[in-house]
Amino acid sequence: MRCPFCGADDSKVIDSRLSAEGDAIRRRRSCPECKERFTTYETAELSLPRLIKRDKSRVPFNEEKLRSGFLKALEKRPVNIDAIDAAVRGIIRRLISTGEREVESRLLGDWVMDALRELDEVAYVRFASVYRSFQDINAFREEIERMEGGPDSHNKE
Ligand SMILES: [Zn+2]
Repeated sequence: MRCPFCGADDSKVIDSRLSAEGDAIRRRRSCPECKERFTTYETAELSLPRLIKRDKSRVPFNEEKLRSGFLKALEKRPVNIDAIDAAVRGIIRRLISTGEREVESRLLGDWVMDALRELDEVAYVRFASVYRSFQDINAFREEIERMEGGPDSHNKE
């Protein structure tokens, strides 16, 4: 690690410890040239992939937008906020675990549908009717027919 004071190429680690939150390693370093001391932090990079929209434009993932999408779909439905937060976290985990730098926003839409189906079927239908109408009206109709077939007709993955 280059010294930020004198620009010397190397510095010596004199102490290394985990941060209080346990999510970073804090290293105390000393420069052999100018003897200055400084601290560096090492964290795991958990950057979220960008979303590729239907028109091929790229937008950054926006957690607030995702959350407000859930809130809108679940408006006046008997679903508590903790369950919504858990769904949002679940989707973020899935996004990170793709390991991709960019994912189709359609994929995100599918995950939202999965999560809504678990949370509340009325909200799911409400969302699906808007979301899928832009994509595949037949798939939506099949989905409704499948749901009307009874609670055992949809198998969780
Ligand atoms: Zn130095």
